Amino acid sequence: RAKQRGRDTYHFFDPNHDRRLQVRHEQRQRFMDAINHDELRLFYQPQVDMRSGQVVGVEALIRWQHPELGLLSPGEFLPIIDGTPLEVDLGEWVLEHALRQLTLWQSDGISLPVNVNISPSHLLVNTFSQRLADLLARYPTVSPSLLKLEVLESAAMHDVQAALKNMARCQALGVGFAIDDFGTGFSSLTHLRQLPVNLIKIDQSFVRDMLIDQNDMAIVESVIYMANRFQRPMLAEGVETLAHAKALMALGCELAQGYGIARPMPPEAMPVWLAHWPERQDWRGLATLQ
Ligand code: C2E
Ligand code: MG
Ligand code: MG
Ligand code: MG
Repeated sequence: RAKQRGRDTYHFFDPNHDRRLQVRHEQRQRFMDAINHDELRLFYQPQVDMRSGQVVGVEALIRWQHPELGLLSPGEFLPIIDGTPLEVDLGEWVLEHALRQLTLWQSDGISLPVNVNISPSHLLVNTFSQRLADLLARYPTVSPSLLKLEVLESAAMHDVQAALKNMARCQALGVGFAIDDFGTGFSSLTHLRQLPVNLIKIDQSFVRDMLIDQNDMAIVESVIYMANRFQRPMLAEGVETLAHAKALMALGCELAQGYGIARPMPPEAMPVWLAHWPERQDWRGLATLQ
């Protein structure tokens, strides 16, 4: 009786609540099916050293090939699983498929480091490093040093000790780390001191307008300065034009990723892109800049 009244009270305030929960539940169910029915894909975006032209790695980016809706971007479906155990299921799927792709590329003579995005809740699972070790053991031809995990600053913020512990264990396996979207979190400086990261990725939101917005330029300059002071390699995201590339190089940031270099592509397209990249006239001049 009391329960009934509680329900009625709730409905009085928000009659759509149950319905919204139902919709969420169905969306999550549908995403779980997508994992199991092979509807997910990894696209790969090259990362290059602008000075030498060398391709230093690729970032794996998730896509959902939805049978009715077509190719969906992570922004369209990751919010559905945000904060749920499905983030861990997705993360394990992505790690496995990235390692599988590394194996396939290797058999084609392509040896490219792969960066994989890891969600905060996944990084904090206490068996994370053990499960990663098991996975690496199943792909013995892949050197763990070819794998780098991209984590957001916020991942560490929830539980710094747990994050550091898991990161140290993964590094003991030979796996590297990058801080993704650097500058968007709030205690960037502290994290730089504490986190054992191998790469700092300057967020694309600062890079995009750095040539027209003095504040963004100031942030980019500061991040590059800090990364240099901490002696950590850095990479700029969202490099769309040659003007961006030149400005970043002048500031001392030589690694880049962005539409100006290549859009994320299906893995089959990578060998062709790699073959043509050295001939790209528009980027060639960078190597000769001071
Ligand atoms: P992110 O890790 O910061 O990835 C970079 C995003 O910027 C990608 O979007 C990429 O396609 C886009 N991008 C690259 N170059 C440019 C450029 O020059 N201009 C612009 N405007 N955008 C550029 P995408 O693929 O939509 O991924 C968005 C976010 O979703 C990622 O941001 C990452 O946080 C998340 N994500 C992607 N794949 C995974 C995954 O496998 N697992 C998890 N947990 N998150 C993922
Ligand atoms: Mg990333
Ligand atoms: Mg990023
Ligand atoms: Mg991002």
